[in-house]
Amino acid sequence: MNLQTLRDRVSEGMGEAQSADSEATIEAVRIKYLGRKGLMPQVMKELKTVAPDERAEVGQLANSFKNELSALLDSRRASLAPGADESGAAPFDVSLPGRWLRRGTRHPISSVIEEAVAIFGRMGFTVAEGPDVETGYHNFEALNTPPYHPSLDRKDTFWLDDGRLLRTQTSPVQIRMMESRQPPVRIVTPGRCYRRDTTDATHSANFHQIEGLYVDRDVSLSDLKGTLAYFAREMMGPDVAVRFRPHFFPFTEPSVECDFSCHVCGGSGCRVCKGSGWIEIAGAGMVDPRVFERVGYDPEIISGYAFGMGIERIAMIRYAIPDIRLLYENDMRFLRQFA
Ligand SMILES: [Zn+2]
Repeated sequence: MNLQTLRDRVSEGMGEAQSADSEATIEAVRIKYLGRKGLMPQVMKELKTVAPDERAEVGQLANSFKNELSALLDSRRASLAPGADESGAAPFDVSLPGRWLRRGTRHPISSVIEEAVAIFGRMGFTVAEGPDVETGYHNFEALNTPPYHPSLDRKDTFWLDDGRLLRTQTSPVQIRMMESRQPPVRIVTPGRCYRRDTTDATHSANFHQIEGLYVDRDVSLSDLKGTLAYFAREMMGPDVAVRFRPHFFPFTEPSVECDFSCHVCGGSGCRVCKGSGWIEIAGAGMVDPRVFERVGYDPEIISGYAFGMGIERIAMIRYAIPDIRLLYENDMRFLRQFA
């Protein structure tokens, strides 16, 4: 067989393969060209009779045709509907009902974070995030908590071998933001925190916080009060009252604790608020001037407030969840309630 004849047969074969549209015709093409008595063995057998100057080319063409035709036939076969037979019948019963996938629900922690971010977003706060693995400087020193300070239990911290730690609060994000930009800064920092707490109904070694920071000229404690009061009403309902009690945090001066009136009893006293009528929600205060100095802000010109609260605590109060562990056990019977 000379080169030209082979070329013709090759293009013929590829055309036949291309138009084969059933298992049977595909198989017929395969047998015709690649089968034991097909074209290919014949070409190989006759190769020694081919003119010497064409022999190499005929051999090469025959080989590449073999591979290309096989690949084309495979792809033709794959393109036939899976399971369809030559009669064209559907491979499955189209009248059977479909399989339903159960719809997921938002986790209460995610819901509270999303809602809090949306509420603060309406007041102009944007979201800032930082690393879970922090330096001791960002987690303690920059927040005015020197190594010898008793206010934060450093032994309650997960330390890594390289001297870094799992952040015990989301406050280091505030430091990172102030280090990297000039006022005004108005951010909330939702995120995961870690403390070496023994897990019980109200404690978990892994929990979530959302903190806020507003730094500008002429920011006052009354701005802070208005911000948290608005948040309280949006999160807990229009009738909630807010009160502030003096407190101490190393990062702020003056510092306050912020309580919301109990949404269950309305302030008259019940089991949820342990009879006091109030529920402790947030720690807050005016950013300490020494913190501003550390990040390079001038405390004579700049002032600001910061606040922080636990996401789990808000979720537990809001949804009347009695045990914090329920939030982490991934029990679908529990989670499906929050559709
Ligand atoms: Zn109450």
